[in-house]
Amino acid sequence: MEIESISHDIVIVGGGGAGLRAAIAVAEADPQLSIGMVSKVYPMRSHTVSAEGGAAAVAREDDNFEMHGFDTVKGSDFLGDQDVIQYFVQEAPKELALLEHWGCPWSRNEDGSVATRAFGGMSTKRTWYATDKVGFHMLHSLFQHSMRFEQIVRYDEQFVTKLLVEDGVVRGVASLNIRDGVLRIIRGRAVILATGGAGKIFPFTTNGNIKTGDGMSLAYRAGVPLKDMEFVQYHPTGLPGTGILITEAARGEGGYLRNKDEERFLVERDYGVGTKAELGPRDMISRAIIQEIEAGRGLEGAHGQYMNLDLTHLGEEKIQARIPMVRELSKLYIDVDPVEAPIPIRPVVHYMMGGIDTDIDGATSIRGLYAAGECASVSLNGANRLGSNSLTECLVFGARAGRCAVDFSRGIDEGSDANLRAQAEEEVARIEALRNKRSGNEKISRLREELNTTMESGCGVYREEGSMQASCETIDVIKQRLADVSLQDGSRVFNTELIAAMELANMVDCAEAVARCAVVRKESRGAHTRRDHPHRDDQNFLHHSLAYYEPGSPPRVGTKPVTLGKWEPEERKY
Ligand SMILES: Cc1cc2nc3c(=O)[nH]c(=O)nc-3n(C[C@H](O)[C@H](O)[C@H](O)COP(=O)(O)OP(=O)(O)OC[C@H]3O[C@@H](n4cnc5c(N)ncnc54)[C@H](O)[C@@H]3O)c2cc1C
Repeated sequence: MEIESISHDIVIVGGGGAGLRAAIAVAEADPQLSIGMVSKVYPMRSHTVSAEGGAAAVAREDDNFEMHGFDTVKGSDFLGDQDVIQYFVQEAPKELALLEHWGCPWSRNEDGSVATRAFGGMSTKRTWYATDKVGFHMLHSLFQHSMRFEQIVRYDEQFVTKLLVEDGVVRGVASLNIRDGVLRIIRGRAVILATGGAGKIFPFTTNGNIKTGDGMSLAYRAGVPLKDMEFVQYHPTGLPGTGILITEAARGEGGYLRNKDEERFLVERDYGVGTKAELGPRDMISRAIIQEIEAGRGLEGAHGQYMNLDLTHLGEEKIQARIPMVRELSKLYIDVDPVEAPIPIRPVVHYMMGGIDTDIDGATSIRGLYAAGECASVSLNGANRLGSNSLTECLVFGARAGRCAVDFSRGIDEGSDANLRAQAEEEVARIEALRNKRSGNEKISRLREELNTTMESGCGVYREEGSMQASCETIDVIKQRLADVSLQDGSRVFNTELIAAMELANMVDCAEAVARCAVVRKESRGAHTRRDHPHRDDQNFLHHSLAYYEPGSPPRVGTKPVTLGKWEPEERKY
């Protein structure tokens, strides 16, 4: 059967915050261009929808770009690129105001100005919010606005399995329609990846099931390096058991963290967060919680040790007005009403600082291939992201990648039909073989579980050489065992087992890059904390890590200079 081929000017993979913002930017830059937007789920189900706390941008009189810039540089432990950060802070307020014009209901102060709340590592109240359902409102506004543009053609519930690249130029994607199991070629003169993060490589995470690092793996296998993958963010406050997030807004609104003796340990002991206390950055607070537990000051629960997040002093009125979802989630999932009792929490994997290596335009080393949002590493976040910078990042760099992709697409032809068809035919054969694989000895669920377990034991909040090496070895074995996986479902219609098998392969790529880069970085910086190398080492490691795909062997790990600027590296203390 002939493989169907559809052509657009620009193809966007992902319908979350970054993908939708990119699509709108393309449509506005040139109304003549047609845009194909592929998403493995209906766009409103993208992970962006679950963001709770808010989006950062300078809005108040006591704030300025210099402060937002420095907070971000310091938060990144000096591994963020300063040109990127300066551009980001300047664009941020414009993007959030634009979103309001498209319908986003930002919460307001009494006088009608935009309300902002405090967030970790930020030196003033800078986080715009719409109660604590920020991602829902942002994504809704973007999605509805995107519907005004007829030239945005959606391919929902379609799974991109491969980038089609010819002589170093991307020509489109191979996309499997999950509904009927048919693979198509979707051609574009530029492709933007906006596929989100890879938190599911860990067992205990706030991330939705779809966050399997697909786009990172697509780019990586096509030859683009993954950057700074060793930096994995733990959010200090997840619900034990499920990993459901209790937003940082709970602390932004004045919540306290307490140990089993009811001490505010961030105030009582020196964990580097100074007077910021509960509003210190996420990496430091996550480490403090682990240290408290190790010192015997944790509370014992059904899912291991935990700390308490105490909101009782805030009062019902404030909790209901500012963080109603926090109350809803804790009542629903752990039967605790935070008005009356503290919420049990523990650190939980939340966000990937690393991702597809891009420049400030979102451009990668493959011509015509762009990336934005959580799947990309434009180097805004360096070694540790500040909460609420990432939703804004999706807007600022989604828009920029969209505009730059338009410029690129003007000077480029469509590529050779025969070459793309040959690649797509190979892809059909590969997927058919997988779909019909009944003979293997391995189960997807077991391999995924083993991958999760080794990532947690080797690449958790605290790391050391031996356990990281053990993770690398386990991942090597999992990679080989992956070839022996067998599927039970041979159908074409909504074959979620087939999708899970391909997602697992993508997760293995991401996990391997995390573990291999972590071993090489023999220092502690941001979220990468090694017990055997407890200090930051600017002499030897003030650079980005790059993981290059090597067929049949572990990635080659290289480096890339950090773009410094007016903010000189200094000790990171609050
Ligand atoms: C619970 C939670 C709360 C958060 N709260 C905040 C917050 O308050 N403030 C903040 O700044 N950040 C927050 N974050 C982080 C932030 O929400 C995310 O980093 C951001 O929304 C990512 O957006 P994205 O567009 O890059 O990806 P996503 O929203 O994850 O979207 C990815 C898209 O790619 C598509 N896709 C993926 N793979 C494929 C494939 N193979 N084929 C086709 N399509 C594919 C998916 O269908 C989806 O549409 C939170 C994250 C979580 C998990």
